[in-house]
Amino acid sequence: MKQLCIMLVLAVLLIAQNGKGEKIMTEKVHKSAAEWQTCLTPEEYRILREKGTERAFTGKYYHHKEDGNYICAACENELFSSETKYDSGSGWPSFSAAIAEGKINYKEDNSLGMLRIEIFCAKCDSHLGHLFDDGPQPTGKRYCVNSISLDFNKAK
Ligand code: FE
Repeated sequence: MKQLCIMLVLAVLLIAQNGKGEKIMTEKVHKSAAEWQTCLTPEEYRILREKGTERAFTGKYYHHKEDGNYICAACENELFSSETKYDSGSGWPSFSAAIAEGKINYKEDNSLGMLRIEIFCAKCDSHLGHLFDDGPQPTGKRYCVNSISLDFNKAK
């Protein structure tokens, strides 16, 4: 019985260790403004690091329909699957869900005289766009994202 208890404790410790390992894999990316400026174009910097917005209907992924995953343009964190992309008519790429929990962070945004939810990359804190409650079921969510905040990995 005692041995069984020790084995159980060891198993729990191993699982905890594993969990830790996965956390290390998604460690935050920290760069200074000057460092970001050297690895992003001025337009990418304006949107990703200064919370800018690209003009509606101009982004490269607005009408994009290939199968694959959309990743953060600044740090390659996987953010959205093409399976949740839909045409919202808004002029920006729209998704009904994030690819997984913990990939995107959310923050109240009171700019422009309205209350919105800003969405940003959980790994590098880059601005992605905003989250609205007028998306399709079952989530009812619309992740409204700048194309410039994204890159795309085509499904193999
Ligand atoms: Fe990122």
